Amino acid sequence: MRDQLEQLRQQALAAVTAADTEEVLQEVRVRFLGRKGELTGLMKGLGALPVDERPHVGQLVNQVKDEVEAAVEQALERSRRDAVAQKLATERIDVTLPGRSRCKGSKHPVTLVIEEVSEIFAGLGFSVAEGPEIEHDWYNFEALNFPPEHPARDMQDTFFVENQLLLRTHTSPVQIRTMLQQQPPVRIIAPGTVYRCDSDATHSPMFHQIEGLMVDTRVSFADLKGILTTFTNQLFGQKTGVRLRPSFFPFTEPSAEVDIACVICGGSGCRVCKQTGWLEILGAGMVDPEVFRHVGYDPEVISGFAFGMGIERIAMLKYGISDMRLLFENDVRFLRQF
Ligand SMILES: [Zn+2]
Repeated sequence: MRDQLEQLRQQALAAVTAADTEEVLQEVRVRFLGRKGELTGLMKGLGALPVDERPHVGQLVNQVKDEVEAAVEQALERSRRDAVAQKLATERIDVTLPGRSRCKGSKHPVTLVIEEVSEIFAGLGFSVAEGPEIEHDWYNFEALNFPPEHPARDMQDTFFVENQLLLRTHTSPVQIRTMLQQQPPVRIIAPGTVYRCDSDATHSPMFHQIEGLMVDTRVSFADLKGILTTFTNQLFGQKTGVRLRPSFFPFTEPSAEVDIACVICGGSGCRVCKQTGWLEILGAGMVDPEVFRHVGYDPEVISGFAFGMGIERIAMLKYGISDMRLLFENDVRFLRQF
């Protein structure tokens, strides 16, 4: 029995030494020390020994059990340490690798101008109004004093949709929609997309406008000039000169084109201002009484002014962009500069 015990002891220790993973070590433990293990089996044979030998052999069996148990524990500990060490060695982070850069977007110059203009007019008490891009002829033309067959309609080459529907040629129908919905006073600006059948280096079939409308009981041409001077001064810098030239729009009377001193040459004359020293930036005028009649306002009591400007033109002047098509090509190299 002692020989048997010694043999088992050596077998068990050899198995522990040979085991290379935690899994195998657990198997070794079960094989020798488990409830049905080989050492446990040997314990059961103690009963067959002479009585005076039993305590001594029992003690020996326990010694071997403890020894094997300790060897297994040690090996397990070592195996766990090795696993951690190996993980540390193989999963190193290389801090010299270049980082992953994230692409940062930027706002389109048209958006930037809309935001800036809206902010300036918000400071003057104007709120933002919107309207549909597919518009009814009545809102786009007739209510704005373009009667059917009137030659003024030719000023705006129109995309027709069907029946009386068209793609709005200007943001002015938002004036009509706003006045139909509320009584004076009205102070709105209406930024939005408009469409005209036109395309070259300075015209695009789709572009953006900002419309403005101020209506109350005592609004005069002086208010128009004061508001627009304040606006252009804030948008282009405090020293920008402003001049008004007589013009014609069906929905305003009198009407004016508003020029600012050339932002490139300061008024001395250059290629951008065609040597005039002035840049045309918006159209404006006092709301025609006929327009007020269309929305149910009394032109004897109510007066007001309206103005409109092309956002692309403002963006080109403000950022020194020479070709309008750059604004629609969506070339990232161009757009990133803003
Ligand atoms: Zn100039």
